[in-house]
Amino acid sequence: MMQDRTSFDYIIIGNGLAGLQLALELAKDPFFKSHTIGLIDPFLKDINDKTWSFWEISAGKWDSIVEKTWHTAKFESPEISLEIPLQDYNYKTIRSLEFYEAAKTRLLSHPNIKFIVDTVEEIQEGPTSQVKGNKQTYDATHIFDSRVPKEFYAANASHTLIHQHFKGWIIETDTPRFNPEAFTMMDYRFQYKDSTSFIYVLPFSETKALVEYTFFTPFTVAPEVYEAAIKRYLLEKHKIESFRIIETEVGNIPMTDFPFWKHHTKNVTKIGTGGGWVKGSTGYSFKHTEKNVVKLIANIKAGNAPSHKLFKRKYKFYDKIFLKVLHDENEKGVWIFERFYSKNTIQTMFRFLDEETSFSEDLAIMKSLFSMAFIKAFFKVLFKF
Ligand SMILES: Cc1cc2nc3c(=O)[nH]c(=O)nc-3n(C[C@H](O)[C@H](O)[C@H](O)COP(=O)(O)OP(=O)(O)OC[C@H]3O[C@@H](n4cnc5c(N)ncnc54)[C@H](O)[C@@H]3O)c2cc1C
Repeated sequence: MMQDRTSFDYIIIGNGLAGLQLALELAKDPFFKSHTIGLIDPFLKDINDKTWSFWEISAGKWDSIVEKTWHTAKFESPEISLEIPLQDYNYKTIRSLEFYEAAKTRLLSHPNIKFIVDTVEEIQEGPTSQVKGNKQTYDATHIFDSRVPKEFYAANASHTLIHQHFKGWIIETDTPRFNPEAFTMMDYRFQYKDSTSFIYVLPFSETKALVEYTFFTPFTVAPEVYEAAIKRYLLEKHKIESFRIIETEVGNIPMTDFPFWKHHTKNVTKIGTGGGWVKGSTGYSFKHTEKNVVKLIANIKAGNAPSHKLFKRKYKFYDKIFLKVLHDENEKGVWIFERFYSKNTIQTMFRFLDEETSFSEDLAIMKSLFSMAFIKAFFKVLFKF
């Protein structure tokens, strides 16, 4: 009986973005029809805890749950104001709850898949590995683990860590205040001291928007700092004095060059944030997750280790240099993004962030950012100081 089962071919630890995307991809592939899969998470995933945004060309596989799509992005700083048509690209937003609900509904129709509410404490590896939960112990031939390795939290100075920390509100106003046709990728006119900090806005309608204050910094700040900046932005740029807060979003995404891939073993593949699937230089992972689960499944079917060639080394190197600049000269963030958004085409920028660029496109990006800060960071990364 599947309900009583504690022994599986695959166990997926974590029903978040990576765990559920992986389970969905396994479920739809006839190759895995006879494989049993256990999905373990302490939570039922029945609340909206994130707003996921990403860009892609034309239609995509999540369109049925996309909340809104934009075709124009804005970039603002004290120096420049850009309105960037996205051309072939669309910027899309999904509420995480919609994703969890859709994934659970699809997965529950597969008799070989079982959801387990438990907290994993540890894994004991062997020919059949044991996953020890708070409530029970489970067996699996292979484990996909989305927990962040403990070593990350004890990371020493050889790994750069920038916190992408933010607080935002979905607000409603009584009168039309937003232009729902264009979202704001970054507005640097409300910087906190000399840091890389900006306002991000997703206008869902003329009266409803997610407004977030985001930092890419080695330090974090008190909640009042985000709230004061959001209020100031709403008042100064949209003449909004009163508004209703519908939802709050807070987060701290690690932007790091920590070598997550060193924590895969023969029996355990780290996935999601814990597998290094969040891009170090952006904090985005939705589309990278989509691509990684497809590669991972192709690896299993080809008889390779699931994590075989998931990453392209050159992008890890580029991310490392960028993180070094942000770490050592955080105040340069605004200059970097001004150059990035004003000197490159939208295709080159998105293809670069999607890790799909040719060498000549890489050169165009490097040329646009060429400066002492990057030269210094390049040598620091090369000679590890
Ligand atoms: C607020 C927020 C907004 C974000 N917005 C975007 C965005 O717009 N675009 C984008 O591309 N990326 C975004 N990200 C970054 C990234 O996409 C997300 O962090 C993404 O959810 C990472 O996927 P994941 O599966 O690794 O982690 P999660 O989705 O967090 O899932 C991890 C799961 O593991 C479970 N778990 C943890 N410990 C245990 C345990 N011991 N036993 C069992 N289960 C456990 C958790 O309960 C959770 O369900 C955002 C991140 C945050 C925090």
